[in-house]
Formats: sequence, structure tokens, C-alpha cells
Amino acid sequence: MTDPYLLTPGPLTTSTTVKAAMQQDWGSWDNDFNAMTADICRRLLDYANAQTSHACVPIQGSGTFAVEAALGTLIAPQRSTLVLINGAYGKRLASLLDRIGRPYEVIDTGDTAPPDPQLVAQRLRDNPTIGYVAVIHCETSSGILNPIDAIADVVAAEGRELIIDSMSAFGAIPVDAQQTPFLALVSSANKCFEGVPGFGFILARRDALEASAGRCHSLALDLHDQWHYMQKTGQWRYTPPTHVVAAFLQALQEHANEGGVAGRLARYRANADTLIAGMRQRGFNTLLDDRWLSPIITTFLSPTHPAFDFSRFYAELKELGFIIYPGKLTEVESFRIGNIGHLDTSVIEQLLLAVDTALANLGVDNCQPAIAS
Ligand SMILES: *Cc1c(COP(=O)(O)O)cnc(C)c1O
Repeated sequence: MTDPYLLTPGPLTTSTTVKAAMQQDWGSWDNDFNAMTADICRRLLDYANAQTSHACVPIQGSGTFAVEAALGTLIAPQRSTLVLINGAYGKRLASLLDRIGRPYEVIDTGDTAPPDPQLVAQRLRDNPTIGYVAVIHCETSSGILNPIDAIADVVAAEGRELIIDSMSAFGAIPVDAQQTPFLALVSSANKCFEGVPGFGFILARRDALEASAGRCHSLALDLHDQWHYMQKTGQWRYTPPTHVVAAFLQALQEHANEGGVAGRLARYRANADTLIAGMRQRGFNTLLDDRWLSPIITTFLSPTHPAFDFSRFYAELKELGFIIYPGKLTEVESFRIGNIGHLDTSVIEQLLLAVDTALANLGVDNCQPAIAS
């Protein structure tokens, strides 16, 4: 029995060669392992054209650990952060600030609309105590792609600092630190770079990192100390997820072989186009307007047909070899299908046939939602 395809935004389906890279054990202090970490950091900075301005600091744990490390270390405690929310991950930024006791305010545009850069600029002009703006790049709960370039422009124009949670976008959506100024960009191993879960990383401006000594609320998540120790010794401060790091280096090599960010984006876009066209042909509607759909993940409204039941639909698809993702929205019934991971349009075509089988087994012959989007 082969593994099911994970049509989820991470952990996701990885290549057999990425999995095979985890067969070797590494000493966390050994030069060969340290060279892998350095190589990874160099490549990640290259992808964002950030070698001269930023440092790459990896941190153990899932993506949220890296976000908490970035917020806790880089934000000066007395300055407020404006959090741009349009879904669950934006809300998580606000909860993190809440938990670590940092002042913040929010602009919440709901589940289906991006933040308006002009309103952000207005808020910054109105409130000089705001020092930072935090934004999600691709809000994975709906799939919406936020306009971070335009946001970065207004944040820079108002003399503030930008923190980007690019967890589910970096590696597939181009970012250039010289064009899109940011204090920090946070991502993780198990999303668009197609590694396995175990660590996140932060591209942080060097001057800000240097100025952040002693600020973090947490010992284990202190980004400054991690960076400092790594500079001095080449090693992670505490035990690194060695096998995950080895797999990630292999994943980065495969990313480069595919043509880097442009190659990966082209494959994800083809996946998304095939998925959306196929689902619409079957009567499903997307949550978002076309102009906000991302190539990363797509949210579909649940059919109102009385025989449609998400947990049964999920189980039928799983039986056929596909794991999809429940919705994360509060207002409407929905589910999500990821376009990322080691899979191409031939897998999406197979998934669409599996959707037909699942719907037939459920007895659903009409996939219209309650409200058309
Ligand atoms: C995946 C993700 C995270 C981190 O989630 P973890 O479960 O901690 O890995 C954060 N932000 C966004 C936008 C994400 O997609």
C-alpha cells in the first residue's frame, strides 16, 4: 500500500529522495552537519536576495515556534504592532503578541478580503506608537494571497518595520528583500520547499538582530542567542532535528533542480488551475473571488445537498488515497485542498476522479453551496 497523497498545506507529500535523506545519522556538533546548516542558510537568503542585508536563523519546532521567536526577539517591547488579520493565521499573530504581553492593534478584513494598503498607511499616520506591521503572506486558512509588496511600500514610506509570516508562500511566491523591505520573514521546512516538519527559519535584518540581545521572553526561542551561538560555533544552540535538516538540504537541491521559485510556482499554478477548473465543472464554488485565489491552497464551499457530509467525504477520499483538509473558517461550511507538495497535475486529475467516486458513494448529485461566491 502506497502512502496517501497529502493535499494539505504541510506536512505535505515529499519525494522519496527527500525521505531517503533521513536514513543517515548525524552528529549535531560535527563539521559535516554544520556545513549543511550553513549551506541551507545561504540558499534561503539567496532566494530572497537578502544575503547582504539579512541573516538566516533556523529554529527548532513547527512554524509557530519560529513566528513566536521572531515576534519575541525582534519587536521592541514598548512599541505597538499593527496586525493585519484575514483568517486564522493572522489571528494567531495577535494571540502570540497577547501571550507575550506586547501591545498591538488589528485591522481585520474578514475571511475573504485582503488588507487595503491605503487603510494601513492611514492607520500608521494616525498612530505614531505603532512601530511594526505584521502580515500573513498567503493566509492558509482561506488561500488568499495578500498584497505584501504594496503593504511593504506603505510601511516603509511611513518609516515602520514589516514582519511577514510567509510560511506557506516562501519558496513558491517570489520575494526580493531589496524590493519588498522587511524586518523579518518567517517560514518553515515543510511547506513550499517540500521538506519534512521539524524546524522553521527567520530571515531577519542584521542590524535589528544585533540590537535585540536580551529582549526575548523565552530562552529556547531567543533568536538573537540562536544566531549569536551559530555565528560563533556553526552549531544550533540546542539539539537540532538532524534528520530533518538533512532532508531539507535535499529538498532545496530538488527545488533548485526544478528551476527555483519560478519552476515551483509554475507547477503549483498548474495544479491549482486544474483543481479549480475540475471542481467548478462538478458544481463546486470557491470561497474566494478569482482575483484572490492563490496557487497554494484552495477553499471550496461545502455543498448544501442533504447527503453531503464532510467527514464521510473525507473518509471516502482517504480510502482512494487522498487526504484533504477541513475548513478553518467560522462563518461558512467549507473544506480545503492543497496544491503544494511533491505532486503534479496528473495527481490532481486522479483526485478529481476520486471526488466523483466519493460524491457518488455519498449520493450527492448537486454540489452547489448555499451562497454563490
Ligand atoms: C503553517 C502555517 C503556520 C505555522 O503552523 P505550524 O502548525 O506551527 O507549522 C503559520 N502561518 C501560516 C500562514 C501557515 O500556513
